[in-house]
Amino acid sequence: MGAETGKKGKDVEKRTEKRVAKKKNSNILVVFGLVLLFVLGLIFVLYGLGLEHVRIGSAGMNTAKQEEQAKPEDHLVTESAVKDEPKTDEKANGGKTTTPKGIEEPKQEPVDKKPTADASGTVSKAGENVKLIGPSDGEYASIYPEMKTSAPEERQSFGNTLFLTFDDGPGAGTEQVLDTLKAHGVKATFFVVGNRIGDDTAPLLKRMVDEGHTIGVHTTCHEYKTIYASVEAYLEDFHTTYEKIHDYTGTYPQIFRFPGGSVNSFNKSVYRSIIAEMKARGFTYYDWNISTGDASQGYTPESIVANSLKGLKYKDTGKNAILLAHDTNVTSAAQVDAIITAFENEGFSFAPLSPIVKPVTF
Ligand SMILES: [Zn+2]
Repeated sequence: MGAETGKKGKDVEKRTEKRVAKKKNSNILVVFGLVLLFVLGLIFVLYGLGLEHVRIGSAGMNTAKQEEQAKPEDHLVTESAVKDEPKTDEKANGGKTTTPKGIEEPKQEPVDKKPTADASGTVSKAGENVKLIGPSDGEYASIYPEMKTSAPEERQSFGNTLFLTFDDGPGAGTEQVLDTLKAHGVKATFFVVGNRIGDDTAPLLKRMVDEGHTIGVHTTCHEYKTIYASVEAYLEDFHTTYEKIHDYTGTYPQIFRFPGGSVNSFNKSVYRSIIAEMKARGFTYYDWNISTGDASQGYTPESIVANSLKGLKYKDTGKNAILLAHDTNVTSAAQVDAIITAFENEGFSFAPLSPIVKPVTF
């Protein structure tokens, strides 16, 4: 029994050893598994951190791109700010604009400088770089749609300059007026009447152009009730003279003067509409601030000169001085020499009107 018991004890011992060995093996597996899990976990965590890093990196790149794109916008803002500058200066300088460097500079003539223009008042000769405003569609644009022109964006005042203007011709005094102007080397403006333009008066119109004067439209019939009956009636009357001036001189007029002035007792109901339409077409009209009074009853050579010399009040004011006379009036024509001499003695210059000249209007 003892030997048997000893054998049994050895078997138990062996079994126990085996069990212990099995336990050791399983412990190694568990440890290995844990290590594996730890390593995998570590890789996973590191990989995750890596993605996050990439994401931050790409976000940083986006920010850089946004900054790059923003730069051109900043330039645009700067440019538009520069373009706006003249507006500010306009207020500060009382209407005079200052062009910033780098922007196309419109030709600005000093106040005392003589304007120059050809007989039709062509702007290009008054200043080649003058900015022009094209015509826009007025309410009556369908009537004579080709009858339109361009006006300068900015008008100018010419101090100590007399703008002699002669209405109603060509007529009895036109030749004497032209001779006197030529003798003084003075340029003036003629607002002509279409019904007086024909082959017989064509040489006078040709002289006006050749000798550097401006021709503007006055009217065709000069009958207030007819021309101021409606906007359509005014356009029709204007159109006839407009085309006649072109037929006889080869140039279209850009300026005009209303018969009786822009505001008179015959056109109160329509003058606003006519002015709006003519402005939309690009034409410039001029009233006057000095009158010879040669259309009034009882005028004399002395009264014509005396009335004209009232215009000397504009000396050194910087304002445009526009004198009204009629070259159909021979008495008036005979006084042009005395009027020019008197203004010359006061240091005045003389110039023809052109659209660059700031209008005198009622
Ligand atoms: Zn008239």
